[in-house]
Amino acid sequence: MTGPQPELVVDLAAIRHNVGRLRDWVGADAGGPQLMTVVKADGYGHGILEVARAARDAGTDWLGVATLTEALTLRHAGDTGPLLCWLHLPGEEFAAGIAADVEVTAYSTGQLAEIVAAADRAGRRARVQLKVDTGLSRGGATAAEWPALVAAARAAETVGSVEITGIWSHFACADEPGHPANDAQETAYRLALDTAHAAGLRPRLRHLANSAAAVLRPSARFDLVRCGIASYGLDPAPGHTPAELGLRPAMTATSPLALAKPVATGAGVSYGHAWTATADTTVGLVPVGYGDGVPRHASSVAEVLVAGKRRPIRGRVCMDQFVVDLGGDLPPAGTEVVLFGPGDQGEPTAQDWAEAVGTINYEITTRIGGRFARRHVDGGDR
Ligand SMILES: *Cc1c(COP(=O)(O)O)cnc(C)c1O
Repeated sequence: MTGPQPELVVDLAAIRHNVGRLRDWVGADAGGPQLMTVVKADGYGHGILEVARAARDAGTDWLGVATLTEALTLRHAGDTGPLLCWLHLPGEEFAAGIAADVEVTAYSTGQLAEIVAAADRAGRRARVQLKVDTGLSRGGATAAEWPALVAAARAAETVGSVEITGIWSHFACADEPGHPANDAQETAYRLALDTAHAAGLRPRLRHLANSAAAVLRPSARFDLVRCGIASYGLDPAPGHTPAELGLRPAMTATSPLALAKPVATGAGVSYGHAWTATADTTVGLVPVGYGDGVPRHASSVAEVLVAGKRRPIRGRVCMDQFVVDLGGDLPPAGTEVVLFGPGDQGEPTAQDWAEAVGTINYEITTRIGGRFARRHVDGGDR
């Protein structure tokens, strides 16, 4: 029998709410684009299977993941809806994806040839989307490679090996709406569509926008928007709070306080004595650390909520634990500490943590884990 443990509580009602909100925002039910909910990296740390189910329940049209392994995880759990993956390694088992009705993405003629070979072996037509690199310089065919890729794709389609269902690309600077790269990428994307059309391709789905672009750049919505971070209720771009967008953060990270005790003026706290008490105070021990995904960069900069009050982290975050300044209070061991959550009770948000430690909200929820037990709830109280 154990007592209270560190927990990540994920509210699936918030996920459903956010999916519905995003559908409304882009006018999905009013002739607007379809919505893809992106659930890669274990649903941004929220649980891929639970989030996928909630998103489907809330009417998302598509699920998106990075890898074929993630896609097959969804299929093995019984998901049957439209599903796209986009990050393939050499020697990928495309046949398994084709058999499971997963749409895969080709970045190059070599990758397309692997997909065609797998489809021919399986005796089944593969549904394939093509990715063009319009300026992110990450995955996708370059402008120079694009004509050869669309020609090969059209040839494979003509003989019946594949159906080219989509053409897509990805922004580099969607979270900076004023950045000139956005216009340049959208222009390059339209040119790539023209080239594909001239080659005879008629894909049903053209898509370019992630959450930030879906929300901030209507011209980039095309036939579908791919929303990850906003689905989890987190700010898709600086200066656009979840509340303003009608989104609700789904994850709350809590831990019981392990102990509280007094420390005297001049006491050095945690490794390296990076912080020293400037007055007599009390400190609390929180039994999670960087081994559990609490960023070490939170040392002396992030805050938590203890018994209704914001308390600063003091000194270095350790592997298994960190120390907070309780300002003279001595709450009992077991008192709930909220690291981050929706902010309703005055607790910090994942966005606050990201800003404090110099990263993005994505990294906060995706990396937290370790000894936090994840629990899914459906609205109401934790
Ligand atoms: C992760 C990802 C997304 C989702 O991005 P958000 O900013 O979380 O909305 C969309 N498209 C691609 C290709 C991605 O890799």
